[in-house]
Amino acid sequence: MTKTVKTYDVIVIGGGHAGCEAAAAAARMGAVTLLLTHRIETIGEMSCNPAIGGLGKGQLVREVDALDGIMGRAIDRAGIQFRILNRSKGPAVQGPRAQADRKLYRKAVQDLLAEQPGLEIEADAVEDLIVDYGDANAQSHVTGVRTVSGKEFTAAAIVVTTGTFLRGMIHIGDTQIPAGRVGAKPAVGLSYTFKRLGFALGRLKTGTPPRLDGRTIDWDGLDVQPGDNPPTPFSFLGGRIETPQINCHLTATSPAGHDLIRENLHLSAMYSGNISGTGPRYCPSIEDKVVRFADRQRHQIFLEPEGLDVDTVYPNGISTSLPKAVQQEFLKTIPGLEKVAMLQPGYAIEYDFIDPRELRPSLETVRAGGLFLAGQINGTTGYEEAAAQGLMAGVNAALAAGSGNKTFILDRADAYIGVMIDDLVTLGAAEPYRMFTSRAEYRLRLRADNADQRLTAKGVDIGCVGPERARRFGEKAADLGDATSLLGRLTATPSKLKAHGIHINQDGVKRTARTLLAYPNIDLEKLSGLWPEIGNIPPVLHRQLEIEAGYTGYIERQEADILAFRRDESLEIPDDLDFGTLGGLSNEARAKLAEARPATLGAAARISGVTPAALTILLGHVRRPRRATA
Ligand code: FAD
Repeated sequence: MTKTVKTYDVIVIGGGHAGCEAAAAAARMGAVTLLLTHRIETIGEMSCNPAIGGLGKGQLVREVDALDGIMGRAIDRAGIQFRILNRSKGPAVQGPRAQADRKLYRKAVQDLLAEQPGLEIEADAVEDLIVDYGDANAQSHVTGVRTVSGKEFTAAAIVVTTGTFLRGMIHIGDTQIPAGRVGAKPAVGLSYTFKRLGFALGRLKTGTPPRLDGRTIDWDGLDVQPGDNPPTPFSFLGGRIETPQINCHLTATSPAGHDLIRENLHLSAMYSGNISGTGPRYCPSIEDKVVRFADRQRHQIFLEPEGLDVDTVYPNGISTSLPKAVQQEFLKTIPGLEKVAMLQPGYAIEYDFIDPRELRPSLETVRAGGLFLAGQINGTTGYEEAAAQGLMAGVNAALAAGSGNKTFILDRADAYIGVMIDDLVTLGAAEPYRMFTSRAEYRLRLRADNADQRLTAKGVDIGCVGPERARRFGEKAADLGDATSLLGRLTATPSKLKAHGIHINQDGVKRTARTLLAYPNIDLEKLSGLWPEIGNIPPVLHRQLEIEAGYTGYIERQEADILAFRRDESLEIPDDLDFGTLGGLSNEARAKLAEARPATLGAAARISGVTPAALTILLGHVRRPRRATA
């Protein structure tokens, strides 16, 4: 017989990257929180590649960290190779990335959760949600969960972060195995719960490469890819990277391998018609690459060790769902892998996701009050995307469990988190959504180095930032203010600069240290030769001060664009607006608006098919009540 075991403020279902951040964030907010997941040992598991960060994704990790999330601290404990990607390009498109020791990463996440007061963790599979349907006019509301072991837990808010597990199905050639990922059962009951509640479900797919035995790889002759020395930590809490650092290696596919794939394409699960779900366009399988880029002779492969004390190697770039025997043959065509032993075949996985247009910007579902969704279940792919949504859903679930009417929303000018959630809830996910710097309009502002300046104070205000980080942030903000005003006060003429080996146009004009910092060949170190007090500026601030001085004009122009953007964002569209009642809208615009239910006029403008004429009609409606109350 089912019995209610305990009542919580917030229950989080799933111990992946979204679930861990959601549970930790809700607990930091003071909510009594339960994390329910299949197995305690797999909390923080990296289902696919052993790496965190990258272009756009690294910014997300820094933002999660700025809001006191755990991902940045976990990778700093577990990282075995750190690199700033795109270092030679502008600061707006650089991204920190780190290779992880899988085991150390899981341990770091589990330790950080164990240290979090107010958070309980239990191993169980959730089979169903308990829903109060209310009367005919009232909105449904979730009140708890039912587990496979027959327990009931109740809560004011529930966050579902079940990743690739909803009716998950693994494909290797024509073999199909129901699974959430390799070695894990799928979540079937919950998928039916969502259907019963009327949610729009779709099917997506993703894939992973085979795993290799590093002892059987011929490393001689392969290009070495070292990490940055010294490594730059992810977390703004700083600290040193204590884990030993390793090299990765590079190899590539060959024409012989491409021929083999073409001959066996009909055996690949992705091409045999067995999979209906849409895959990630920007993370294609090797079958996709060979078909789509038919004239390419080689595709690069990064050989990434999965840990310090294991021999498993992750060949990044060749995810596949070909039969096991074909995978083995294909590997032999790759330089260095001629004699490689395959420890686990690559596979594709297909799973249910929920159309994210079912969500409000707080990640609460429109259909059922108190129910929040985060991570892969919302049509995204990637650990970082999952973690960022998890954090936001955890904060908002805690707010809903408390006062009930406050929400924590970041907009497109605040953070990549804001860009991602706005894209999802406004445009949906026709294919697995992953973050890129090109998705953000205000890239010069949304940098990885300044995420704390953009977000930590907001996190302190809402209550998701703990006292230690708040204190450190306060100190850093004060140092930054002091350094900025010092650089504005110090001035020198070109001749004085010349006397100190700094050569600029001899026009006799006095310039501030801040202005001089914008010159391409002048940095703080050089200026400290002339002004020794600059040497007292903490090194952690150098990069940020140099970028902001160097890009002042662009940043100021972007600030003006942001003001205009926020004017449209402040025009809220009532939640219950019936677009059918607005005269003059085309059928297409009406249907698109009704489907996406944009929260603001700005969000409406980002929906394709919503024309300037439709926006004018909408604007007239949105402004009307304001005039009436003025
Ligand atoms: P997950 O990490 O999947 O975690 C889900 C958690 O929920 C698990 O802990 C599970 O045990 C738990 N759970 C599920 N159902 C229940 C239930 N009913 N009750 C209790 N607990 C439950 N990302 C990329 O960026 N690039 C890639 O190339 C890539 N390839 C991938 C390949 C494969 C085969 C897989 C499986 C994933 C891949 N990913 C890839 C995606 C990446 O792993 C996910 O985006 C990320 O892990 C999603 O995080 P999440 O927290 O949403 O879900």
